Amino acid sequence: MAIIMHVDMDSFFAAVEQRDNPELRGKPVIVGGHRDSKRGVVSTCSYEARKYGVHSAMPIAQAVKLCPHGIFIPGNHKKYAAVSRQIRSVFYEFSPVVEIVSIDEAFLDMTGCEHLYESLEDLGRAIKRRIFETVSLTASVGIGPNKFVAKLASDYRKPDGLVVVRPQEVWDWLAQFPVKKVWGIGQKTAEVLASWQVYTIADLRRCSRETLVRQFGKQGYTLYQLARGIDHSPVEPEAETKSLGRETTFAEDIAAMSKLRQVLADLTAEVGYRLRRHGLWARTITLKLRYDDFTTITRSSSLPEPVNNDDDIFHTAYKLLVDNIGQRPVRLLGVYVSQLTGFGQPSLFSDPRRERLTRLMDELNTRHGRPVLYKGRQLPSDATDR
Ligand SMILES: [Mg+2]
Repeated sequence: MAIIMHVDMDSFFAAVEQRDNPELRGKPVIVGGHRDSKRGVVSTCSYEARKYGVHSAMPIAQAVKLCPHGIFIPGNHKKYAAVSRQIRSVFYEFSPVVEIVSIDEAFLDMTGCEHLYESLEDLGRAIKRRIFETVSLTASVGIGPNKFVAKLASDYRKPDGLVVVRPQEVWDWLAQFPVKKVWGIGQKTAEVLASWQVYTIADLRRCSRETLVRQFGKQGYTLYQLARGIDHSPVEPEAETKSLGRETTFAEDIAAMSKLRQVLADLTAEVGYRLRRHGLWARTITLKLRYDDFTTITRSSSLPEPVNNDDDIFHTAYKLLVDNIGQRPVRLLGVYVSQLTGFGQPSLFSDPRRERLTRLMDELNTRHGRPVLYKGRQLPSDATDR
C-alpha cells in the first residue's frame, strides 16, 4: 500500500515576512502589493488577516477595504525562493521521490519507508520538526494512501496541522467534504452537480459512473474514482528537462516581419503551454534563426524572474528577432527556453486577469487536444511591413 505525504507551508510568504520582522508577528500581513496598488492581488496573507475575510487571489484594493489596518507588503520573491530551496533539501532527507508542486508545497512518496518510524504520526512530526529547525516556519502535513487524500489531509487542520488518514478510514473521512474539494471540480461542474442536489462527496457517490461519464466525459470517470478515494496518480519527481522549445522550417524563405512575428507567436504559445503543463518556469529565452544561406545563429536573453506566460516569452523572443533579423530572408525560426525551475509565483508579479485568461486557454486547448484559442498576434496579417 502506498504512503504519500503532502507538505504545505502555512501562509508561506507572510510567515517568512513575520519570521524576519518581529514587528509583524501577530498582525494582519498581506503580501502581494502596496496598499495603493491598483492591479495587485493578494498572494498570501497571514492567518490574522484571514480573520477579516482576506484571502489569496483577492484584489489588493478589496483587501484594504476589509482590513484597513493590514500591513501590505509587495513581497520578495528571491527570498522566498531561497527559503523554498532550504525546505526542499529537508524533503530529500525523507524521500528521494519528491514532487514539487509549487514554491511552498510538495508530495513525497514514503512507500516502503514507514518502518523507519514508530508510526505515521511520528513520520509527520519528524518532517515538521526538521522544517522548523531549518527555516523556523511551520508546515501542515497530510499523510494518506494517495495524493488526493494526502492533499486534503494537509489542508484539514491548518495551520501547523498533522493529519494521517489510513486506508480503512478513507471512505468515511472523505464523505464529509464538499464536492469543490475534489480535483477537477470547478465552478461549472459544481453548478451542474448542485442542480442534481449533489453537494458533498457522499452525495457524489450516489451518481452512477454512467451518469458522470455522460455528463462530464473522461473527467466524470475520474470524479467517480476520487469520490471513492481512488487515485493512482504517481508522485512525479522533478522534471529532468533542461530546456524545451519548438522550431519550424519554412517551405519558402520568409522576409516579411509580419509573417515572422506571427510564426513566432505560434511557437511561443506552444512553448509556454508545454512549460505550464510541466509546472515549469524558465529564466532564459533563446531565439534560433537560420538564414537563406544556412548560417544559423542563436541569441538568448535572461530575465530577472522566471516566466511561463506566452506574453513574456513572446515579447522577449520578439525583441531578439527585431535586434537580429538583419536584411536576409529566414529559413528556420525557433524558440527555446532554459534555466528551468519548478518555482514561480505568477500572481505576485503579473496581472491576475492575464493569468486567468492563460488558464482558460490552456484548459480549452487541453480539452480539445489541439489549439482552439489564439491570441491576436497569431493571426495572419495582410501587412507586409518589410
Ligand atoms: Mg501553503
